[in-house]
Amino acid sequence: MFQKILIANRGEIALRVLRACKELGIQTVVVHSTADADAMHVRLADESVCIGPPPSRDSYLNIHQIVAACEITGADAVHPGYGFLSENAKFADILAAHNITFIGPTGDHIRIMGDKIEAKRTAKRLGIPVVPGSDGAVTDQKEARRIAAEIGYPVIIKASAGGGGRGMKVALTEADLEVALQTASTEAGAAFGDDAVYIEKYLEKPRHIEVQVFGDGFGHGVHFGERDCSLQRRHQKVWEEAPSPALNAEERAHIGGICAKAIADLGYSGAGTIEFLYENGEFYFIEMNTRLQVEHPVTEAITGIDLVHEQIRVASGGGLSVKQEDIKFNGHAIECRINAEDPRTFTPSPGTITHFHTPGGLGIRVDSGVYSGYKIPPYYDSLIGKLIVHGRNRVECMMRLRRALDEFVVDGIKTTLPLFRDLVGNADIANGDYDIHWLEKYLAKEE
Ligand code: ADP
Repeated sequence: MFQKILIANRGEIALRVLRACKELGIQTVVVHSTADADAMHVRLADESVCIGPPPSRDSYLNIHQIVAACEITGADAVHPGYGFLSENAKFADILAAHNITFIGPTGDHIRIMGDKIEAKRTAKRLGIPVVPGSDGAVTDQKEARRIAAEIGYPVIIKASAGGGGRGMKVALTEADLEVALQTASTEAGAAFGDDAVYIEKYLEKPRHIEVQVFGDGFGHGVHFGERDCSLQRRHQKVWEEAPSPALNAEERAHIGGICAKAIADLGYSGAGTIEFLYENGEFYFIEMNTRLQVEHPVTEAITGIDLVHEQIRVASGGGLSVKQEDIKFNGHAIECRINAEDPRTFTPSPGTITHFHTPGGLGIRVDSGVYSGYKIPPYYDSLIGKLIVHGRNRVECMMRLRRALDEFVVDGIKTTLPLFRDLVGNADIANGDYDIHWLEKYLAKEE
């Protein structure tokens, strides 16, 4: 087991990882920018190293400074959290070259999944169902027309190097195809420095369902069930739940089994999420994230298993603490992402939190690094906390969520809490009847 882990992140996830390390008796080092000197995880860590000024590229993305911090403090492993360097293959390779363990998969696995064309090809080879479309990059109009006609309109053009929902264009008919291909490719080149694009069938009313997987590093794979993250705004998840209201036990076991086998065949090590669009009973792979996800606590709530403990165990060579048959699903969990944003326009609302009071009681978990008097720096993501609620079934979970949202107080800034108070009383949400476009339509109607 590791002696000392360096946490290369900030905010709620840095605190989340720190808690797991403390439970396992592992010393912690955190790195932080000058803007985060007063952060909770910095106060609670055994050691902290300031690695630079506020902009991420000078601090949380500065590989040399982070490696230097490992060497100075004698950390033997790095947990990257999510975002920042968590899916940076070069970072994983550099740490390995310095004999520091990256708590995550190999650089090569990150690289494969980071390129969407390569990821899709790999998924297909591993027996994962994919969205019908081109086999690789599409460059000329004639080929694009042939493929689109074959799979049928509407189609979506996506950037191979894409991420964060950028570089995608929909063509409803052949008349739109030429412009869609051109703009997607130009945008991809400008945003990612790689203009390769590919074509997929555009699914009109899918749900976003993702499967939590783990490889133990010894050629075995397991799945921890799915999460439904269909409630999104501009491709950003807002509300996540497990299990999905749309799946039955048979479908869960079927897609979970396919994913676990794929992870085993890939020889993957650590946590991963295989994301699908789900429509008319069919799953279509869209991408794989090779890290811990923001929404991992809903899976922890229904399985009772600490996924960060498992990441650390696997990275240290100790394998998983559970086998597939030990992973049981119990009740229902919902996570609300509390952002420092206007609840209607989603414009960031940094500033000082004058009062912060979190709900409590059975089935309530709040993951947050903020406190009364905390000043939210304007440089980073606006997520300030996550409310995770667990109940024996979805009805009990929703009842408890409504009560917890009433207790939650964040004064001094705007947050997305009022949006969740509205959603929890909505009939479609109560019925679990929503797809990936539901929230945008709802917000447009409210305006
Ligand atoms: P990114 O890495 O940029 O987030 P994804 O491939 O994960 O890109 O897709 C992001 C979102 O775009 C999906 O959650 C979905 O809302 C939409 N999307 C992607 N592919 C399709 C498709 N084939 N049909 C319909 N919507 C899609």
